[in-house]
Amino acid sequence: MSIQNEYLNGLMERVIQRDPGELEFHQAVREVLISLAPVANARPELIKEGVMDCLVEPERTIKFRVPWEDDKGEIHVNRGYRVQFNSAIGPYKGGLRFHPSVNESIIKFLGFEQTFKNSLTGLPIGGGKGGSDFDPHGKSDAEVMRFCQSFMNELFKYIGPDTDVPAGDIGVGAREIGYLFGQYKRLRNEFTGVLTGKGLTYGGSLARKEATGYGLCYFADNMLKAAGKSFEGATVVISGSGNVAIYACEKATQLGGKVVAMSDSNGYIYDKDGIDLDLVKQLKEVERARIKVYVDRKPGAEYHEGCVSIWNIPCDIALPCATQNELPLEGAKALIKNGCFAVAEGANMPSTPDAMDAFQEAGVLFAPAKASNAGGVAVSALEMSQNSMRFSWTFEEVDERLKTIMSDLYRNASQAAEQYGMAGNLVAGANIAGFLKVADSMLAYGLV
Ligand code: NDP
Repeated sequence: MSIQNEYLNGLMERVIQRDPGELEFHQAVREVLISLAPVANARPELIKEGVMDCLVEPERTIKFRVPWEDDKGEIHVNRGYRVQFNSAIGPYKGGLRFHPSVNESIIKFLGFEQTFKNSLTGLPIGGGKGGSDFDPHGKSDAEVMRFCQSFMNELFKYIGPDTDVPAGDIGVGAREIGYLFGQYKRLRNEFTGVLTGKGLTYGGSLARKEATGYGLCYFADNMLKAAGKSFEGATVVISGSGNVAIYACEKATQLGGKVVAMSDSNGYIYDKDGIDLDLVKQLKEVERARIKVYVDRKPGAEYHEGCVSIWNIPCDIALPCATQNELPLEGAKALIKNGCFAVAEGANMPSTPDAMDAFQEAGVLFAPAKASNAGGVAVSALEMSQNSMRFSWTFEEVDERLKTIMSDLYRNASQAAEQYGMAGNLVAGANIAGFLKVADSMLAYGLV
């Protein structure tokens, strides 16, 4: 698909020329500019006033070294990042990712996407993202702690409860957030809501752990119901077995679906009787084991090496919840061939552009990550509110708010798509609805 606006086409070219190696960032920007072309055509002031040019350039990129010592006394040096992308509507907000694949392109793509996603939640939060090429797999708790402390020794200078509030992402869960928050508190001598996803004993919100996966299913449920379908009796395939995947599995099951497959970066399990989620939680949340151990404890289940063929399993609903570009065109073709009628993205940018086109051409209901996985950051923003009030809501109160946010988000994205002549296209609708609030705020501030 091409960008139907000459200026935005040129802008895309400049983005590529400026940082030629940043392929993930180019992919994310292209998808958004395709969607925004009708808006730019209708509102030329957005180009004239520099909003579009500013939108694709982070306000600030912080890049730093993270030296740490392993248990044998050897020194390692990783690289840390924080991209503060856009603060037009609130403090920068977005997760930290610890994974060997992390580089500036990945953090920029995530920070760019986060700007629209956060706007879509209707809450006052800007977009940012950070992380490191550090791999927590196979490290002892003490090594992870030393790494997190060193990471925060630099990051603390740039964040704060009214400036930038990081959270978790791939490789950053409750353990890492605890070490990071502890070090921030030590360095600043203050107890503030500077990170979200905190433990419940020190300022965390109930339902934050569940929020992204639950929110994904609430969004998907809205989309399915609008098309006269539901999770009830549906066979569901979920990639990943981390935070998002586990709670997507829990909610999809509660809504009447049967989840038959999950994965990690080595391979996937298939359990025709339905995934035993307690076992997955035990393996992933407690033992930090590989997903293949599942079949040792669950007779009749199968394990297959490699991730991508998970999409060959026949299903009605697919929820990609692992990582970017994990659902390529071949996977999309297999899903379509097997009668899959809905795909809702839990991970960020999991479908490649050609896979996304294939779903839309085949009439598969498609929920894009920016909208469908916004539940995590929405509850993070609720955690910030609770921290500011020094007060906690119950699980039910937070969950109820999450449900309302995801329904509003679905409605706003579908209405925006309809208003710009692309009814049913939630990719365009989410990009447009997220963009408008940010753009109008940027216009109000003037060029700074
Ligand atoms: P976790 O680290 O908890 O889990 C990630 C899962 O994906 C693991 O099962 C991991 O397997 C698998 N995975 C990671 N990289 C790859 C890969 N290259 N190929 C196949 N599988 C892979 O992360 P989250 O569940 O928090 O995040 C998953 C996705 O959801 C990410 O895209 C993240 O950006 C997005 N997201 C997360 C939010 C949150 O609240 N946590 C909010 C919104 C989006 P292994 O253990 O083998 O590495």
